[in-house]
Amino acid sequence: MRYSIWSLAKHALSGHRRWPQVWRSPEPRSSYDVVIVGGGGHGLATAYYLAKVHGIRNVAVLEKGWLGGGNSGRNTQVTRSNYFHRVSTEFFDYSLRLYESLGRELNFNVMLSQHGVLNTAHSRHDLETMRRWANAIRINGVDSRLLTVDEVKQLVPAIRVDGSLPVLGGFIQPRGGISRHDAVNWAYARAANALGVDIIQNCAVQGFERSGGKVVAVQTSQGRIAAGSYCLNVAGHSTQLAELAGFRLPLMSMALQAMVSEPVKPMLDVTLFAPALKIYISQTDRGEVLIGGSADIYNSFGQRGSFAVTREVLAAIVELLPSFSRLKLMRQWGGVVDISPDTSPIMGASPLQNLYLNCGWGTGGYKAIPGGGATMAYTIANGTPHPLITAFGLDRFARAALVDEGAAAGVAH
Ligand SMILES: Cc1cc2nc3c(=O)[nH]c(=O)nc-3n(C[C@H](O)[C@H](O)[C@H](O)COP(=O)(O)OP(=O)(O)OC[C@H]3O[C@@H](n4cnc5c(N)ncnc54)[C@H](O)[C@@H]3O)c2cc1C
Repeated sequence: MRYSIWSLAKHALSGHRRWPQVWRSPEPRSSYDVVIVGGGGHGLATAYYLAKVHGIRNVAVLEKGWLGGGNSGRNTQVTRSNYFHRVSTEFFDYSLRLYESLGRELNFNVMLSQHGVLNTAHSRHDLETMRRWANAIRINGVDSRLLTVDEVKQLVPAIRVDGSLPVLGGFIQPRGGISRHDAVNWAYARAANALGVDIIQNCAVQGFERSGGKVVAVQTSQGRIAAGSYCLNVAGHSTQLAELAGFRLPLMSMALQAMVSEPVKPMLDVTLFAPALKIYISQTDRGEVLIGGSADIYNSFGQRGSFAVTREVLAAIVELLPSFSRLKLMRQWGGVVDISPDTSPIMGASPLQNLYLNCGWGTGGYKAIPGGGATMAYTIANGTPHPLITAFGLDRFARAALVDEGAAAGVAH
């Protein structure tokens, strides 16, 4: 059914008790054309574009827990394409453009709020790095503008520009912003389900049956499932699944945390990054102030962030935005992110012929969900990488052809 003002009014008459189920919960079949492991945003989006664009509908998404229970439902929702290298900008801007029409395409309000992503500079060195970064983004054809300290103050009236880490200026990507992560997961799940995709929750992949350099079937907590092709979209658990499949990935898993305050009246109409302070902050359409920082400094599969990072993030927020010290925190949580040596994703072929990889998103794969889904669906359907992702193949590590965004832009996020 289509969601609209009319369907809302109609269901209001019955007290909203008769909304149909949004997706089915089918029993898994013994075989599919494509099996996608991981029901986060990337897995669901890949399934949707396989069915919608490539007509491959005999697809199962196997999720060990619940949809969006991984990083796609735990992130801070930042959506932007202000990357340094051309290959990154082209890929992430493609994803951002898909986000811009996603609500309409999937008939689901994903609450995209393009209020701008602002980075503040706190030293002359910062300012120089940002000038280089902002210019590279513009040369790559994406919107980006340097800001004076007065312009920063105008955008964020609560900011302290003369504190112990003074603000010297910054730059903004006006089309950047946030959207609602749960809605993105649910929208793709609903649309994929409508096209015939089987979404199977509580179904953990526990092993791979291999023969002649190919995967023949996966063993799951709900039995054996065979397929023509497989795609791994399991974020922080990618190394564990790869090990089960018989190869290693150059990834480290670490906890990344976030927190939200109680909802308050609108007071921050931009997503603010202060890379030197390792913090970023935005206000959601529901009024909560959403705060993020950097990952823990040690490897872990624990889905929670360390207290040391919580304390450092909050201290920096209070230093930069003193009035925010009066906010009450409502929740703090963590996710396990998969960080590659060059902080760029790993997409495309794996050492096994019919097993594809979509991982290594680290702290920044939410913004990539539409782009990742669309390009991976193309890659699986055609058996060759989509032109936008050829630079992100696993083989780049053997060729020393890294796409080092962290080093280029001078920040880790
Ligand atoms: C706190 C935090 C803040 C973040 N902020 C941002 C941000 O602002 N912007 C941004 O772009 N990115 C951000 N990210 C990163 C982003 O959330 C991820 O890169 C992205 O969600 C990855 O999506 P995914 O679908 O690949 O993985 P996930 O959403 O993690 O999905 C993987 C799924 O695989 C399932 N799975 C694991 N093992 C198995 C198995 N054996 N069998 C079956 N299923 C399995 C998991 O249960 C999980 O649901 C953040 C991440 C965190 C943790």
